[in-house]
Amino acid sequence: MNTHWSKDDMPPIYKPVVWEPADAEEAVALKREYGADAVWVAGGTLLRTQWEGGVAPMPAHMIRLDTIAGMRSIIEETEYVTVGALATLKQCGQHAALQQYANALYMACRHIAAPAVRNLATLGGNVASAVGDALPALLVHDASLLWVDGEVASLHHEQDAVDWMEQVRMGRRSLQAVLLGIRFPKGPVEAGSLLRSSSDIGEETTVDLSANAVSYWTDEKGERWRELCFFRKLGRREAFTPSLVTVALRCWISERGELTRVRVAAGGGSGLAMRLLQCESMLEGRSYDASWLPELASMAAQEFVSYSDPFAEAPYRQQSAGNLLAAGVWESIRDIEEGR
Ligand SMILES: Cc1cc2nc3c(=O)[nH]c(=O)nc-3n(C[C@H](O)[C@H](O)[C@H](O)COP(=O)(O)OP(=O)(O)OC[C@H]3O[C@@H](n4cnc5c(N)ncnc54)[C@H](O)[C@@H]3O)c2cc1C
Repeated sequence: MNTHWSKDDMPPIYKPVVWEPADAEEAVALKREYGADAVWVAGGTLLRTQWEGGVAPMPAHMIRLDTIAGMRSIIEETEYVTVGALATLKQCGQHAALQQYANALYMACRHIAAPAVRNLATLGGNVASAVGDALPALLVHDASLLWVDGEVASLHHEQDAVDWMEQVRMGRRSLQAVLLGIRFPKGPVEAGSLLRSSSDIGEETTVDLSANAVSYWTDEKGERWRELCFFRKLGRREAFTPSLVTVALRCWISERGELTRVRVAAGGGSGLAMRLLQCESMLEGRSYDASWLPELASMAAQEFVSYSDPFAEAPYRQQSAGNLLAAGVWESIRDIEEGR
């Protein structure tokens, strides 16, 4: 392990010790040793805004995570796509396997911050911040988080993203846990619906495909289901802006218009992302009809727990979440009907 001290002529407040652990276990051990005086740094894009804005003090010890090998890869396996926590948002927003199997995440990563930030910012940092715009996308894809955690006996463990969000909400998240990666189940997708050939499995592929990938599966009765998946973000202005509200939805729609395996989530700003379970129950098993979209919007507005700040009041965020959700469903169905 290497350690760097900053220049002696700098004022004391700017003299953090920078640690370069070789693996996640060492990063956890350093955090255990220095506690609240130490911070893990991935891309540093969020931390930097916090230090500059006076929201958080510059720590005495910075523990770099980018010195740990193997945490940048995006690996496609038979049942999962696993994204290393150090993969950048740019990487995630260009990756064919994520476009195919975790489309809400793929879209989220293309709409977070500006391109220059996305070059540095990592998915792990976005998730571990607990307020990143990627989180609703993780929730609708049933993602799990791979941790090295100094507070659990086994050290390595996998946890559903939805459970971790609940721990965060209850103020019980582990402060000794380094996020190694995020795992996305591929679900029931048929090989025939893939944009990429199966020879990609196990390889890292990085391509920029702007069109949506479409996934299908056929049930035991022979009925064909098509994936419907979207991510929507409302910001303070049109582009390159922090979010006020984000919503994501993933489900499958049959040729008869019936919806199943519905997942709906909302978040945004510095609020905590959450699944909207009442909306999911309302949609599960229903056949699409534009006449129920206002009811969906209003249910989402009631269910979404949000907050007020100088930029927007909670009711505005809640109503916006409902409207984004209903509009997203309407637009997605229209695209399907128009053959897109
Ligand atoms: C101009 C600008 C615009 C932005 N716009 C958006 C936006 O639209 N949406 C959005 O969501 N964010 C936005 N951000 C915030 C930030 O860029 C992203 O959240 C980014 O993904 C954070 O990743 P990072 O690697 O830079 O995290 P860092 O800043 O390095 O870390 C963030 C936090 O996560 C912890 N951490 C990082 N990696 C790990 C890990 N592997 N395990 C455990 N803890 C870890 C750090 O200790 C820190 O507490 C913006 C930032 C800037 C500067």
